[in-house]
Amino acid sequence: MESLESLFYSSIISKNIDKYIKITKEEDIKNLPNNAEAKYELLRGNVTSNIVADLSELKGVEDLGDSIKVLAGTKWKDVIGYSPELWSIMDFSVGGTISLGDEGFGYNEFGELANRVTVEAYLNGEKYTGKYRGGIIYAVYIKKENKPLIFKQYTGSEDIVLSKAKSLLSENILPFRDISLIKDNEGTRLIVSYTQVREILVKRYIDSFSATSPFYPELSSIGKYIYMGKTNLQNISFDLLKNSKYAYFTFRGNSVYYVISSDVKLNIPSTGQEYAFDKFNGCILCGKCVNVCPHSYQRGSIVFSPLGFFVLSAIGKEAQVSNCHLCGICEEVCPVDLNIVDLLKQKSALNSKVPNVQLTFPSKKSIILTAISDNLLEDALKLIKYFSLRGVKLGIITLPDPIDKIVKGQINLENARKLLENVDEIITLTPEETSYLIVLKSVKILDITFAYSMLENIVKPLMEGKKVHFPCFYSEKKFYGCSYEMLNLANNEGYGENKVNAEITLCPLAAKKLGIKSYIDLLNINLDMSDANKLHSEISETLSTLDRVFEDAEWYKEIEPKLYEKIFSEAIDKVLLSKNYFEIFYYYLNMDKLEFKNESIKSLVKNEIEKLLRSSDKD
Ligand code: SF4
Ligand code: SF4
Repeated sequence: MESLESLFYSSIISKNIDKYIKITKEEDIKNLPNNAEAKYELLRGNVTSNIVADLSELKGVEDLGDSIKVLAGTKWKDVIGYSPELWSIMDFSVGGTISLGDEGFGYNEFGELANRVTVEAYLNGEKYTGKYRGGIIYAVYIKKENKPLIFKQYTGSEDIVLSKAKSLLSENILPFRDISLIKDNEGTRLIVSYTQVREILVKRYIDSFSATSPFYPELSSIGKYIYMGKTNLQNISFDLLKNSKYAYFTFRGNSVYYVISSDVKLNIPSTGQEYAFDKFNGCILCGKCVNVCPHSYQRGSIVFSPLGFFVLSAIGKEAQVSNCHLCGICEEVCPVDLNIVDLLKQKSALNSKVPNVQLTFPSKKSIILTAISDNLLEDALKLIKYFSLRGVKLGIITLPDPIDKIVKGQINLENARKLLENVDEIITLTPEETSYLIVLKSVKILDITFAYSMLENIVKPLMEGKKVHFPCFYSEKKFYGCSYEMLNLANNEGYGENKVNAEITLCPLAAKKLGIKSYIDLLNINLDMSDANKLHSEISETLSTLDRVFEDAEWYKEIEPKLYEKIFSEAIDKVLLSKNYFEIFYYYLNMDKLEFKNESIKSLVKNEIEKLLRSSDKD
């Protein structure tokens, strides 16, 4: 069966990829079929085989003094800090692509630097070291820059910057290491670099230039088409630049390497590739969502990001990758403002588990348990105890809707209306629920509070100096590392290693998964049966002293049927009224573990307590 990755790349390049092999160690390259080709060649149109090897897991840079050894899947961003010998970024950055969030280092025969680097590579299963002569690269050795480079830029309108570039390039001998022209969200500019020793030679060219730092190409503004390739200087016209939304040219004598993105179809006489993005429902394959998406991170594959969703949509296979917890982080980085969450909602088939507890003791302020937090009853009780001891009553209610409906915001509002009749504020135990339950605001005016924010002043000082995990749904939706607990609940899968390194978490679900403390644990509230046992002996004692009265009342049962119950409830109430809300509630939840004279007494006590728990908002 074709893997999702094969389908993904087949969809992008409109060519069948039969096998997509992930390389995680050097040994894997050795064992590749002879006709396998590296993924970094894919979007450059150089792949002829239908077996593709993905090297992006092979990451690492080793500093060898005057050179560095870079594993083939390392991101360019991680290499630049080692001062590799640099002519232009373009020489290095096409290991992956500058779209798809895949700007790998890889190997591009290094443009003009091909003779200045050596490689460790495999050709037909045999390893060789030296100049590149085909096959799949494991590592590249690059000399380090031993002369400091200076970077200067010239900014202006498109025509002025292009004319400046052309006039510089018309000089016979140029003292620059690199000349690149960039048009992006920040404007149009020419960036040149040169070694300090050439300052005297370059002086006359750079009078109107200002200092800048090395430029890293990143598609910031993208149109419907993207072009990559090599052409001649005379083909770079003002019209071409004007029609581009993004352009990156690096000049080598009369040759120009380019990446251009535009909304209109361009005609560039060159050797190169063109990709039209309109088939991906507006997604321009920039890959910005890939780096922030917890679902993609959890599954370890680009296909589980929105990018994967859109690419697979083009061939009708998107449903398999759409089951995420809809955190919406992707929408915040998407440069073309796609309504990703709405589209995912339509396709996802999430877990439909319903809650395993049903508690309906509403109060003006009520903790809400849902199918997401139903295993957190103990945490809810700790909060009820904590607040009850401080004179604040927290009710507790269970929302009966299944997980998929909650995550997708499709809660049964009619039921919710009844449930929330006497509730002004719901308190959620997890940040996810605070976000998902927003739809309840359409039922009535309601505050929705994440319990942590009620306790922040108390627990924050206790977290000082500790490593704290901020879940994806907390703190401006920044992705700080995912315990995957909510994702697994939503997609009903068990993927994801524990990659969160923390001692405390703001999510009790994550706390359970990671075996660390939650903000509720920091309150140090203990729940033990002694609370329930104490009340039970008081109730039992009261009932036994009233035995003779009950006997008497029993006689009147026929004539005065309510008398027995009246005496009973007055007696029980007398005991209960001296207790705080938590004690009564905890006793109620544990009644099945306690001994009663008979079942009917137990049920009378139970009814009495239920009445009391539901009766008033006073503690
Ligand atoms: S909603 Fe969250 S998990 Fe889903 S695709 Fe977007 S970033 Fe990824
Ligand atoms: S969904 Fe948006 S952020 Fe993600 S690749 Fe497409 S355009 Fe870029």
